[in-house]
Amino acid sequence: MDRCLLCNKEVPVRFTHADRRFMVCGDCNFGFYDRDVAADVAAHFTTFQYDHDPDEILRHSGWKRAIEDIRALKPDGVFVDIGCQFGEFLRALAPYPYERVGLEISTACIEYLKANNLADTIYDRDLLALDVADESWDIVTMWNVLDLLLQPLETLQRLQRILKPDGLLVIRLPNLSFHLPVKKLCNTLHIRDPSVLHDTMYSVRSLRLILERCGYQVIRIGPSPLSDRDPSQFGHQRLHIRAGKAAMQILGWFTSIASGGRSTVHPSIIAYARKP
Ligand SMILES: [Zn+2]
Repeated sequence: MDRCLLCNKEVPVRFTHADRRFMVCGDCNFGFYDRDVAADVAAHFTTFQYDHDPDEILRHSGWKRAIEDIRALKPDGVFVDIGCQFGEFLRALAPYPYERVGLEISTACIEYLKANNLADTIYDRDLLALDVADESWDIVTMWNVLDLLLQPLETLQRLQRILKPDGLLVIRLPNLSFHLPVKKLCNTLHIRDPSVLHDTMYSVRSLRLILERCGYQVIRIGPSPLSDRDPSQFGHQRLHIRAGKAAMQILGWFTSIASGGRSTVHPSIIAYARKP
């Protein structure tokens, strides 16, 4: 048995996939793969071959709304997108009066970001290896990044120090409360499994817990609109996939409202938090 990163209790294995054990803490609702045999994430993403055209905007759904929400809280300042890939989000930020900063470890992405001048500053290494003074940044976004990190606590703690007082952190993630039941159901029915379970997985509850543990004040956590992309390669033009996604989103919003924001079965969640 491994121990929960958040409460240090021993947690049971839920399933094993490719020799890696996936565990979920019943108290925190925090899920994670066996860390002892975890792949070297940094090495993986440094050379990762993204399969899409850099000029194609893939992750834009929900960004317009998120940018509006962020602008209402912080209309200007140093805005850092961590794990910015080919700079799709930095591009979306271009019309606004932010100093744009991108952090990325993929060599191919860094070259593209520099060649296309997509940020005022581009950092080319992991946050934990970065030499940045405390209280330097106003806003940080992590779009589907935290769940791929093996050191989420250390990363969030470091970010908390780098943010200025009242600095804003926005995190989007796949929701454990959706993806784990879907995986179980598909395995039981022996049907194709669209679930996404990454190195560390969060629900509304565990995301709130880790943010508070790292010194943030949570503003809100709730459902995040799904991307237009079809990450499971079911064929994004197919009508029943779109209909299924729409139904999941409605159910996600309904469960969020019905629980008073404490939980949701929406496939993706987004958190807004501030440094006190
Ligand atoms: Zn726990």
